[in-house]
Amino acid sequence: ARPDPAAGRAVHATDRAHVFHSWSAQGKIDPPAVAGAEGSSFWDYEGKRYLDFTSGLVFTNIGYAHPKVVAAIQEQAAKMCTFAPAFAIEARAEAARLIAERTPGDLDKIFFTNGGADAVEHAIRMARVHTGRPKVLSAYRSYHGGTEQAINLTGDPRRWASDTGTAGVVHFHAPHLYRTQFYAQTEEEECERALAHLEQTLVYEGPHTVAAVILETIPGTAGIMMPPPGYLAGVRALCDKYGLVFVLDEVMAGFGRTGTWFAADLYDAVPDLMTFAKGVNSGYVPLGGVAISEKIAATFEDRPYPGGLTYSGHPLACGAAVATLQVMAEEGIVEHAAHLGEHVIGPALRDMAERHPSIGEVRGTGVFWALDLVRDRETREPLVPYNATGPDNAPMADFAAAAKRNGLWPFVNMNRTHVVPPCTITEAELKEGLEVLDEALTAADAHTTA
Ligand code: PLP
Repeated sequence: ARPDPAAGRAVHATDRAHVFHSWSAQGKIDPPAVAGAEGSSFWDYEGKRYLDFTSGLVFTNIGYAHPKVVAAIQEQAAKMCTFAPAFAIEARAEAARLIAERTPGDLDKIFFTNGGADAVEHAIRMARVHTGRPKVLSAYRSYHGGTEQAINLTGDPRRWASDTGTAGVVHFHAPHLYRTQFYAQTEEEECERALAHLEQTLVYEGPHTVAAVILETIPGTAGIMMPPPGYLAGVRALCDKYGLVFVLDEVMAGFGRTGTWFAADLYDAVPDLMTFAKGVNSGYVPLGGVAISEKIAATFEDRPYPGGLTYSGHPLACGAAVATLQVMAEEGIVEHAAHLGEHVIGPALRDMAERHPSIGEVRGTGVFWALDLVRDRETREPLVPYNATGPDNAPMADFAAAAKRNGLWPFVNMNRTHVVPPCTITEAELKEGLEVLDEALTAADAHTTA
């Protein structure tokens, strides 16, 4: 596209006049005007290109503007752009079939929503009605969405302003050896103690009052903490022991990001309910949902499910999902993500960790990686304080600015940068981005005590 700075300034001015943006002090933001996007890159109106190491908000798993999916959306729009949820519609039925084919175990019924948060809302409602119990346990260091119940379940600072009105959420510590709450030295100890802590929390709450445990299979925005072997199996066993519904939130981790269809596949984990969104159609049209096990589905065979949405299973969104899932299979996109994680990203980040004193820990899989940045490797003091803003956040802001100057759009959350490009990024693009990241980390190193 030809540079057109005047058009960019006009878009920016109209945005500032009328768009109210998420999670922001409206007077303190400066949203960059974006002219277009393709594959793993986007560009502004000045003609500057950025390699997108964020996949938007970790949702463009097949990259931007995949021609086959764009064509399928156009075809679906011409054929049937929309229709009410109570009818059997080809795109909706086919999307549900393709999703059910990929979800673990007996999660074979799909309830469609418009995104991730409402998927979580409905999963919790299903668990409460199924068990007749009120409470839900969720982890600190988690994100489950911005709506009333989903934000209460969330275990990061975005919860604080809205932590009212919803009774019954109890938070616990999930395993995270690098910043252990359990004085553990090994993954085995961390796993065992985290499970003991969860069971003790349950016992104190009264298991007969608890409907569900919800976990991100691999917590995403909170830091990409891979659960130790045995943890998810242990949670499954506790849920079975006390009659709880086990909910896995795969909104961010699902649909190829981990180098498998779902993060649950890495652990042979089978929940009772699984939430999804984002990667199901790479966000080309908003879509989320809950995959439902036979046991929970049976609860609603004769008794109505008390919930619904005008756009549940929107044909355009479902048509986009069908095309996305077909393209992912045809092009081996999940296998490509696994290859990139094992042979390109993992080795490159571990190599950077040897050279950059700011890197405390490297963790991840597939195209789902985090660098935990620290001021001091010995004490593991985070490079910026928890939930830092303004001048306290300068080290991360310096790092991000250095990356952007050289054409890399980095994902930054608190003291971490995540490497979460589309699953379709080419090896050449990825290596180019990793080189920019490597150089930008020098800006982070400058704030360490080393
Ligand atoms: N659950 C997880 C794990 C997420 O990462 C997100 C969004 O980032 C959500 C739920 C909420 O999804 P949405 O923003 O589509 O409502």
